[in-house]
Amino acid sequence: MTQSRREFLNAGIALWAASLIPTTTIAAGPPELLETDPIALALGYKKDAATVDVAKYPKRAGAAGATQFCSNCALYTAGEAGLGACTAIPGKLVAGPGWCNAWIPAA
Ligand code: SF4
Repeated sequence: MTQSRREFLNAGIALWAASLIPTTTIAAGPPELLETDPIALALGYKKDAATVDVAKYPKRAGAAGATQFCSNCALYTAGEAGLGACTAIPGKLVAGPGWCNAWIPAA
């Protein structure tokens, strides 16, 4: 094999290998819980607690209910970008300003 042919093949291999490297960043961490997720529907989860149907979920009604958010729930661990982990909903992130019917006050 001549030197130029070897260089040509090496360059081709390098280009092929470079094409295998992803050019987009893969998001790290669990996804955000969608309100349409079955567990969210079961728990009455809303990413904006102000949109909770208090007739259906009277636990969040009134002045005391209006102070309830994921961010002050005992099951919440704050993360990044206003999202956090919830021990009631493993594998998904919930919104700090959100709420669900499993809310319990942080100690
Ligand atoms: Fe938010 Fe608490 Fe419900 Fe989890 S259990 S979704 S942290 S209110």
